[in-house]
Amino acid sequence: MENLLCNENESLFSVLEVMHKGGKKIVFIVDDDNRLKNVLTDGDIRELLIAGHKLSEKVSNFLKKKFVYAREDEKQSKIIAKLNEKIKIVPIVDKKMRIIDYAQLDKDVHMPIAAPNLAGKELTYLIDAFLSTWISSTGKYIENFEKEFSKFCGTKYAVAVSNGTVALHLALTVLGIKEGDEVIVPDLTFAATINAVLHTKATPVIVDIEKDYWTINPEEIEKAITAKTKAIVPVHLYGQPCNMKQIMDIAKKYNLFVIEDCAEAHGAEFNNKKVGSFGNVGCFSFFANKIITTGEGGMCVMNNKTIYEKMRVLRDHGMSKTKKYWHTQIGFNYRMTNLQAAIGYAQLERIEQILKTRQDVEYKYRDILKNVKFLEFQKMQMDRKKVTWLVSVLIKNKKRNFYLKKLLADKIDARPFFYSLGSMPIYKKYLFSNKNSLQISKQGLNFPTGIDIKEADIQKIKKYL
Ligand SMILES: *Cc1c(COP(=O)(O)O)cnc(C)c1O
Repeated sequence: MENLLCNENESLFSVLEVMHKGGKKIVFIVDDDNRLKNVLTDGDIRELLIAGHKLSEKVSNFLKKKFVYAREDEKQSKIIAKLNEKIKIVPIVDKKMRIIDYAQLDKDVHMPIAAPNLAGKELTYLIDAFLSTWISSTGKYIENFEKEFSKFCGTKYAVAVSNGTVALHLALTVLGIKEGDEVIVPDLTFAATINAVLHTKATPVIVDIEKDYWTINPEEIEKAITAKTKAIVPVHLYGQPCNMKQIMDIAKKYNLFVIEDCAEAHGAEFNNKKVGSFGNVGCFSFFANKIITTGEGGMCVMNNKTIYEKMRVLRDHGMSKTKKYWHTQIGFNYRMTNLQAAIGYAQLERIEQILKTRQDVEYKYRDILKNVKFLEFQKMQMDRKKVTWLVSVLIKNKKRNFYLKKLLADKIDARPFFYSLGSMPIYKKYLFSNKNSLQISKQGLNFPTGIDIKEADIQKIKKYL
């Protein structure tokens, strides 16, 4: 309830803050005695801003004459009748107009797969960046975000980019991967991993995963190596770190580059070392459903200064850093904006808390669903610290699609695992092996993993299993 209330003497900005914390797109405006004075929605705020009002203006300047509310002595059916597609929440007041509760349509409770948590300083920093007028790709938030993110990963350098896919493409390009080279990728991953390789014109080689971890199988990597192999792109899938000891040993033995795809595993560790810090470059995504987000965004982390400097030039049109408008290479525009970095910097400030909350959600699932016999949760092992991106399970009774359909029908946004890359016609010709991966892909399911998943939500999911 606290996250739905705002005093009439506060500013519109405070209303926005409360709205983000509450996550319900609505705020009840009250006076000092907790009496209901108004109801403001995200749509109301947008209209006020478009009409030229400032976020610093007092809420009491904008008291609507009419808004919907219910009295505590009204009949339940009458209160429910006030709810509809447009009015999803109605405040309930006592005789003195003091707010005591609210009504919400249960059928509107929708469980998204991974709603971002923006309840920290995100809005404050974003507005600060906006007001500074440094809204393009120069500004203090870019520098701070890069500095703090490399610190978080335990690497020396970081380069912020516009998304996770170009992070991979930039890394491969900087390392000189080109036509005629072979790059080993796992069969079970999001397609961006293989697409980034294809955009360099190199040839991807798709290998199988480990049955227990769902990550790339080091033995298969070694089998797939040829004279043309130049690099390996291990993917820390669904928050699970790959076996980086074995992968780095192979890379050393055959003199290969390693580009870690960490898009789903911010903060995960292998042997107490953060993912992204093992290979030549670690690549992250900050898409809205990832562990932390900037809306769209990505980051490359590394320890090698030469790679770092080359990457900054290539990110910025291949323009010399010392001689303006002098181009030494054919570069890209892969820059992140200061606005995105402002959000990312606020997310990073509380990443430990975000990781903990996601883990708590996973433990809730593990506890409530522990007696569902055909369900197998992602494995946790001593040598690696898995993080929770999406709660991931295998449905071992061949009925994955059946349960998925039922959950989706009730607006519970569960997801099937990625398809095996090698099973898709456009990638089939690059397939080396995918035995385990075919099986895991067919059995795998992700449950909604937002911060506001409650026990009751998981109990509801349990009923469908
Ligand atoms: C999300 C994701 C990417 C791509 O990130 P974008 O920011 O969406 O471009 C790459 N690899 C994996 C494994 C991902 O999950």
